[in-house]
Amino acid sequence: MPRPIRATVNLSALRHNLGIARRHAPRARLMAVIKANGYGHGMLRVAKALEAADGFAVLNLAEAIALRDAGFGQDILLLEGFFSANEIPLLVQHGLSTVIHAQWQIEALLQASIATPIQAWLKINTGMNRLGFQPDELPAALQNLQQMGAKVTLMTHFARADEKNGITDQLTLFNAITHGLHLPRSLSNSAALLSYPEAHDDWVRPGIMLYGASPMSHQTSSELGLKPAMTLSSEVIAMRDIPAGTRVGYGGTFCAPSAMRIGTVACGYADGYPRHAPSGTPVLVDGQQSRIIGRVSMDMLTVDLSGIPDARIGMPVTLWGDDLPVDEIATAAGTIGYELLCAVAARVPMTGIE
Ligand SMILES: *Cc1c(COP(=O)(O)O)cnc(C)c1O
Repeated sequence: MPRPIRATVNLSALRHNLGIARRHAPRARLMAVIKANGYGHGMLRVAKALEAADGFAVLNLAEAIALRDAGFGQDILLLEGFFSANEIPLLVQHGLSTVIHAQWQIEALLQASIATPIQAWLKINTGMNRLGFQPDELPAALQNLQQMGAKVTLMTHFARADEKNGITDQLTLFNAITHGLHLPRSLSNSAALLSYPEAHDDWVRPGIMLYGASPMSHQTSSELGLKPAMTLSSEVIAMRDIPAGTRVGYGGTFCAPSAMRIGTVACGYADGYPRHAPSGTPVLVDGQQSRIIGRVSMDMLTVDLSGIPDARIGMPVTLWGDDLPVDEIATAAGTIGYELLCAVAARVPMTGIE
């Protein structure tokens, strides 16, 4: 028997979540963000499930080419554009769209003197302050791109779309500087797609919601009608009854308040389960609510079996996924669902189910 941990990707949940995104933004074209190996779900697996999307956004040229090689004919966008000029010929050859966020990229395109017009997503910094042209640099950048025949989409990215009134300043600025340009625009990540229809425009760019996690701290995935795409599960591989006062795990951080039964589960931080998840972090044992106790170690963690009278070795354990939102584990561990999904280790076998 192999080690029982596995990740299961529910392909119909992915399609369901795409449907939710479509329902919120019925007039926009939809660029499914599948960077970071499809937020840890397997890029090609996700792309196949979401083939009804109008486009896919990835980070690297190699990922974009892998999508083309797999037969995807949709728009494929490089979210940070090319990282060096020598990527430009391949980008053109594969008909990829590229973010243009810096002057050096424009100069590299001029140098490359490409024959076919390029699809450029001109990124404007409206307040995130990571990538993009400053508002006053937009006219020159746009002129440069249009002179070389580029088809331009204007884009920006929100820093606080998960907050109330979180996009007002950035949207007002973007509207002001793009007024009258009559070019397609793209602004919304998942949070903006769900909360701010005024920012839907021509292309929405949902990521996390497609995987069934919530982009918002004040709304759960189920309140949003989303279904978890990934379930991380394992099994109880050992059990013991311990008397009151017994300490469990590294550092002995958990001390049994009374006699109790505990179980060891084949899942640890080397699988991607967060080591910072404290005692009390929820877990499902055979579908029943329980909690982890003591420190998470590299390959194992410990669960409380006191409320599960028929507990036995081999009993299934859900770490997150169906009936246990990844966001709950993330909150307990002081992080966000995004990080946990992306961090599932390569050693965890992953399979798609319908
Ligand atoms: C990652 C990313 C998105 C998707 O964000 P979510 O919060 O996962 O929906 C959209 N746009 C850009 C530019 C991104 O980098």
